[in-house]
Amino acid sequence: MSKNANNIYGASGLVFNEPLIFDLGTENHEAYSLPKSDVPEENIDDLIPANQKRDEIKGFPEVSEVGVIRHFTRLSQWNFSVDHGFYPLGSCTMKYNPKINEDIARISAFTNSHPLQPEQLSQGNLQLMNELAQDLAEISGMDKVSLQPAAGAQGELAGIMMVRAYHRKNGNPRKKVLLPDSAHGTNPATSILSGYEVVSLKSNGQGLLDPEVVKNAMDENVAALMLTNPNTLGLFEKDILEITEIVHKKGGLVYCDGANLNALMGISKIGEMGVDVMHFNLHKTFSTPHGGGGPGSGPVGVKKNLIPFLPIPIIDKKDDWYFLNYNHPQSIGKLKGFYGNFSIFLRAYAYIKTLGKENIRKVSEIAVLNANYIRSRLKEDFHLPYESPSMHECVLSDKNQLQHGVSTLDIAKSLIDYGFHPPTIYFPLIVKGALMIEPTETETKKTLDKFIEAMKDIAKRAKEDPESLHHTPLKSKVSRLDETLAARKPKLRWKPQE
Ligand SMILES: *Cc1c(COP(=O)(O)O)cnc(C)c1O
Repeated sequence: MSKNANNIYGASGLVFNEPLIFDLGTENHEAYSLPKSDVPEENIDDLIPANQKRDEIKGFPEVSEVGVIRHFTRLSQWNFSVDHGFYPLGSCTMKYNPKINEDIARISAFTNSHPLQPEQLSQGNLQLMNELAQDLAEISGMDKVSLQPAAGAQGELAGIMMVRAYHRKNGNPRKKVLLPDSAHGTNPATSILSGYEVVSLKSNGQGLLDPEVVKNAMDENVAALMLTNPNTLGLFEKDILEITEIVHKKGGLVYCDGANLNALMGISKIGEMGVDVMHFNLHKTFSTPHGGGGPGSGPVGVKKNLIPFLPIPIIDKKDDWYFLNYNHPQSIGKLKGFYGNFSIFLRAYAYIKTLGKENIRKVSEIAVLNANYIRSRLKEDFHLPYESPSMHECVLSDKNQLQHGVSTLDIAKSLIDYGFHPPTIYFPLIVKGALMIEPTETETKKTLDKFIEAMKDIAKRAKEDPESLHHTPLKSKVSRLDETLAARKPKLRWKPQE
C-alpha cells in the first residue's frame, strides 16, 4: 500500500475478535431481571400441550446483559453500512437515510396500528398512503400508483401481470417481451414468470437501445418492451420517444424499470416518455435503509389504460372518507399481505415531504453531478467503455489494469482497505470487468475526492506493484472468502460440542 493510504482512510480502527454467543455463555448469567411475579405459578405442562413445546436447547448460552450488548455491537462492527462510510454500490442507490425518517416511522400511533383495524380507526394511515401514492404519481407522471408490491421485483411482476391482463382482455395475451441486453436480471425473470418468452435486444456502440433494433424485433406477438431509463450503464435512453411509439404502433405496451429514478426526479417524467407502466424502489430512491434483505417497497404506477388491472385493494376516497376498494373485477388480484410494507411508506413519505418539490429536483441534479465528477476524474486511470456523460452512475472497466494482472475483483477488494464499500462489479453483463459506481447525492465533494484518490492509488499500485492487490483486503476482519464454497455449502446450524 502506498504511504498516504494509511493515514487518510478509515478501515484501520479496532476490530474485536468475537466468538459465537454459544461459546460465550457462563452458567447462571442472565441478561434480564424481572420483578417478582404476583401471579400464581402454573405448571407449563398444564398450559401448553407437550407436542407444541420445543425440546430443551442443549448448551443454550447464558450471558449477562452487558455481555449480550457487547457481543452484538462487536459483530455489527464487522460489517459496513452507509452510516459507516461511502457506499457507492451502483444500481442500488445507497444514499444516506435521514434519521428523521426513522423517528417518524417509530411514532407509536403508527407502530401500534394494526392492518386489520377497521377503516374508521385507520383514516390517517389511509390518507398518508393515498398522499404518498399521489406524490409518486406526480414525480413520475403516471396516472395512478399502487403501493402494494414489496420490492422492485414484485412491482415488475405486478406490471407485467397487468400487461398480460390488458392483452388478454383484448383477445390475445401475446407471447414475447423485448429486453435490452443491459437489463437487470429481474426483468427477464419477471417476464418468464408471467408466461412470456424473452427476446434480448443488443445495445449499440454507445450503450443505448437503437430504435431500428426495436423496430426489427417488434411484431404483434410482442406484449411489451421492458426498458430501464436511465439504463443500467447510467446512460439516458435518448430515443425513448421514438422507441415507445414503435412499440405502441404494433399494439405493444412499454414497461419502464424505475429503479434509476434517482437521476430524473423533478427533471423529467417517465409518464411523459410513452411508458404505460413502471415501478419505483422506495428503498433506493426514497431513502429507506436497505442492503440487509428487506423489508422494501416497490410501488407500481400505470397510465389510464391499465388502471382497471391494478392490484386490489385500491385506496379510494368518497367525500372525506378513505376506504379500501376491493370492487375491481378486472384487477390482477392481491400480491402481498395487507396493503404492502407500511413502515416503508412512512419513511418515503417523510423523505418526500421534508424535501419538497424544489429539493427533490436538487437530489437528482446533485446525484448526476457527483457521478459525472467521479467519471471525469477517473477516466485517465480507468477504461471507460462508453464516452457519453453519465446520469446518476458511471461504469468503468478493468481493461487498463488487466494488462498488469489486476482484475475488477482485486480493485473492489482493495477499496475495502481504504475504508470504502466496493462498487457493484461485473454488472451490467455487457461490460467486461465492469465497475459500476453510484455515488448518490448525499456525499460531499470531500468524500468523493478521498474515494477518487483511493482509486487512483489502486491504479498506481496496479502498475508498480500488482502483487500487492491480489490478496486484499488486509485490514478487514476477514480477507478474501471462498464465495463459491459459502454459497454451495453454507453452515447454517450451530451444533453443541459434545
Ligand atoms: C434493484 C433493481 C431492481 C430490483 O429491485 P428490488 O427492489 O431489489 O427487487 C430492478 N431493476 C433494477 C435496474 C434495479 O437496480
